[in-house]
Amino acid sequence: MAEDPNDWEDATKLIRGGLNRSGFGETSEPIYLTQSFTYESAAACDALFEAGTGFVYSRYANPTTKMFEDRLALLEGAETCRSTASGMAAIHTAVSGLLKAGDHIVAGKALFGSSRWILGNWAPRYGVEVTLVDGPDLKQWENAFRPNTKAVLIESPANPLTEVTDIAAVCALARAAGALSIVDNVFATPLFQKPLRLGADVVVYSATKHIDGSGRVLAGAILGSQAIIDANYRDLLRHTGPSLSPFNAWVCLKGMETLELRVRAESDSAHKLADLAAAHPKVKRAFYPMRADHPQHAVAVKQMTGGGSVLAFDVGSREAAWRVLDALQIIDISNNIGDSKSLAVHPATTTHRSMTADQRAEVGVTEGCVRLSVGLEGLADLSRDLSRALDRA
Ligand SMILES: *Cc1c(COP(=O)(O)O)cnc(C)c1O
Repeated sequence: MAEDPNDWEDATKLIRGGLNRSGFGETSEPIYLTQSFTYESAAACDALFEAGTGFVYSRYANPTTKMFEDRLALLEGAETCRSTASGMAAIHTAVSGLLKAGDHIVAGKALFGSSRWILGNWAPRYGVEVTLVDGPDLKQWENAFRPNTKAVLIESPANPLTEVTDIAAVCALARAAGALSIVDNVFATPLFQKPLRLGADVVVYSATKHIDGSGRVLAGAILGSQAIIDANYRDLLRHTGPSLSPFNAWVCLKGMETLELRVRAESDSAHKLADLAAAHPKVKRAFYPMRADHPQHAVAVKQMTGGGSVLAFDVGSREAAWRVLDALQIIDISNNIGDSKSLAVHPATTTHRSMTADQRAEVGVTEGCVRLSVGLEGLADLSRDLSRALDRA
């Protein structure tokens, strides 16, 4: 019997999924750096345009980006995937494709900064109404729905305090209200959380993070059923052109080959470093979804199979947080996540800088908060670096 790739383990999907060799039989995925394609005849050209599938222009589709899309779709358990030039291109497309003037969207307050900007500053220009709720508070979600609610955007775990929202519960509320749900699954990664199985309609990624995994390229993806992607996003993507470069798609394809190994190792280290931080006398509080003291730990264990590579902790003041960052010798100060290099940042003055102090307080981003994205360095080295830095707090 022929192997069904859908039955493969994640590790196999990540290496073999979507592979589409050219006639040369190359082992590694080829990079098709081409804008357009040629046809045997005018009639063949006509037939391909009529079919609306196949490769006619790389803004629409490209063989290398398609391999990336097919591999990620297989891993996610989604019917289809469309790649984009960045995570924000994916989120902007995912949100705007579901909405028109007069519609309403509900989202958690603790959103990635640019997502919050799209909802707070951009969507209203197009006559879209927005309600932001406390992600973990299901009553607030329930009360937010209106007859014109067409979409919800859930980010869980959310940046930077790893706040967790009950995805199955919010998706069920959305479905009952006739709205589609979008989940930003970046922090959980496609390995540790499967939003489509929890009832989500659309999943979005910044592949810039763990999927590349080595801090090289920007990339994004939108996944869902063929019907939802075709009805809401196909033409929008074609004509607005947030297309992923085939070269960047190839970097992500190669990144995926080691995704499971990397993310499991990073997540194991992150849990241990969160325990280390939580036990340190200078730390008021540490946040990591798989720690029993996480505010939404019960929901996290229900919907996630691993905690991910990001943790946060609070050392009480901006001065203390900066002293910690400045004392690090191995871990870099950087605002990225999901890199094989461990990176620490002070959210209040970087990723959450454009929010007002009140908005930051609402989502718990205090002046003493530090976010740490754990990479692949040796755990003893990272532990020593973090302990020494925390001593200076
Ligand atoms: C990084 C990130 C994004 C944006 O992705 P880019 O690739 O930088 O555009 C969106 N959501 C989350 C949770 C992220 O971490």
